[in-house]
Amino acid sequence: MLRSKNIKKIKNQKKSWDILIIGGGASGLGAAVDAASRGFKTLLLEKEDFAKGTSSRSTKLIHGGVRYLQNGDLSMVIESLKERGIMRRNAPHLVKDLSFVIPSYDWWSSPFYGIGLKIYDMMAGKLGLGPSTLLNKEETINLIPNVKKTGLKGGVIYHDGQFDDSRMAISLALTAEQQGAIVCNYIKVESLIKNDNLISGVIAKDFLTKERIKINCKVLINATGVFSDNILKMDNPNNPKLIKPSQGVHLVLDKKFLNGPHAIMVPHTSDGRVLFAVPWNNFVVVGTTDTLVNDISIEPNALDKEIKFILDNAGKYMTKTPKKSDIKSVFTGLRPLAADEGDSNETSEISRGHKIILSESGMISILGGKWTTYRKMSEDLINSALSVGGFPERACITQNLPIYGYDYNSDWEDPMHVYGSEIDKIKSIDESNFSKSISKEFFITKNMIIWSIRNEMSMKLEDILARRTRCLFLDVNETLKIAPKVSGIMAKEMNKNKEWIDKELKNFVKLASKYQIK
Ligand SMILES: Cc1cc2nc3c(=O)[nH]c(=O)nc-3n(C[C@H](O)[C@H](O)[C@H](O)COP(=O)(O)OP(=O)(O)OC[C@H]3O[C@@H](n4cnc5c(N)ncnc54)[C@H](O)[C@@H]3O)c2cc1C
Repeated sequence: MLRSKNIKKIKNQKKSWDILIIGGGASGLGAAVDAASRGFKTLLLEKEDFAKGTSSRSTKLIHGGVRYLQNGDLSMVIESLKERGIMRRNAPHLVKDLSFVIPSYDWWSSPFYGIGLKIYDMMAGKLGLGPSTLLNKEETINLIPNVKKTGLKGGVIYHDGQFDDSRMAISLALTAEQQGAIVCNYIKVESLIKNDNLISGVIAKDFLTKERIKINCKVLINATGVFSDNILKMDNPNNPKLIKPSQGVHLVLDKKFLNGPHAIMVPHTSDGRVLFAVPWNNFVVVGTTDTLVNDISIEPNALDKEIKFILDNAGKYMTKTPKKSDIKSVFTGLRPLAADEGDSNETSEISRGHKIILSESGMISILGGKWTTYRKMSEDLINSALSVGGFPERACITQNLPIYGYDYNSDWEDPMHVYGSEIDKIKSIDESNFSKSISKEFFITKNMIIWSIRNEMSMKLEDILARRTRCLFLDVNETLKIAPKVSGIMAKEMNKNKEWIDKELKNFVKLASKYQIK
């Protein structure tokens, strides 16, 4: 995945692309994999880096959604559980089974949630990850040593999936390329070209060279998440607003706040939602919130009240309670909810299902959805593209398509498991440096940095520190400490000068302040 090579291919492409996708998050990358694997000439353009938007800021769960079961959204749960199984099967190096404990402090919670979770298990059928069971008090404490013991009656354990969202996005980009697509980051679609009121292409700007490129296509897909309304307005300034953005905040804490490999699921917070405390990369991710926002930004700000809400609600279930000073990193994402007219302002009540909108100009937009269902969303989307483009019928093959790096024997204790079958290639870059981490807090090596430049289209310091590795999301202060060393390695590999290093560091320090609690 070399950017310079891809730019050349985009410029040299004489014929129209069959399918041009705007947006390199879960929806767009999934669509690129689906379209290319059906044999369509496919191009994907992302204005920032892959997964820079919502798709690197999820709770990292591949789940049916116990909350949707509570809400009675059964078809959503069944679809998500099926997709959970498919994703785990096709990407065993990126998706794993995680057990969740619901601690109970009254006599009725365990049987109540126990019955609900048995239904959840049944809905997963053959693709289930393991049966849910009731726990007594001692068993609950054994699984979650930091659980609040006062008044604890027992609990329920159930299983769902966990993944690394931005690593999945990079692997999807690589899978799309394996299937013949071209994907490119830092290219923004600025305007649409029409012929007889039908879309025939776009004008895009390369943010790294400032050059504008005219690109022709037969079908245009708008997969820009919370930015979808901007593209819809480019198409028709009178388009009504279709996205209701809902903000979700996560706090990252030291692993001592769980002190074990199991997650806590709080089924009923003070605002009636669910809250997770999940072990992830040797830290604990706690979240999330659901706050309706009016302004959309690629780097949204966590609100003080959201941070307080998470600390207060998580603290109710922990012996050692987290304080603001314990927060290692805070990350915030915007859900691109596809609201129906008349939907309430309670964003938690808006369905997490997806919608496909066909504009009169022929543009197809995908709105809403979840990471868990990205594959099914993409299948539905490309099925619509077949009729819009007048393409021959070609069946979707992604149900059984291995994701780049597929390795059934992945060792989850190895911090490099996310690279799957590519580990030996990374090792061969420099055998002597293979396992030498630059940081004591998390695993990041010189070889990983070089690999991500040569193979994963890392262009900026933040690409490596936020999405190819997850340092920024885990511990901001430690990441700021290693940033000079990482930028030095990058500069050497990319043949950049001191001026470039200074600029990258300055930009990164500014970005990191968003993830830092002052
Ligand atoms: C707090 C939170 C927690 C979540 N947790 C989970 C979870 O645990 N499990 C789960 O299954 N789902 C979860 N989700 C949902 C999931 O993360 C989203 O549904 C998914 O990531 C949305 O992907 P997307 O591709 O639609 O949007 P995005 O990831 O935002 O991608 C859209 C992309 O379009 C690009 N773009 C915009 N305009 C242009 C342009 N003009 N030209 C080129 N590119 C452009 C943007 O830069 C962006 O990268 C969560 C969401 C949030 C907010």
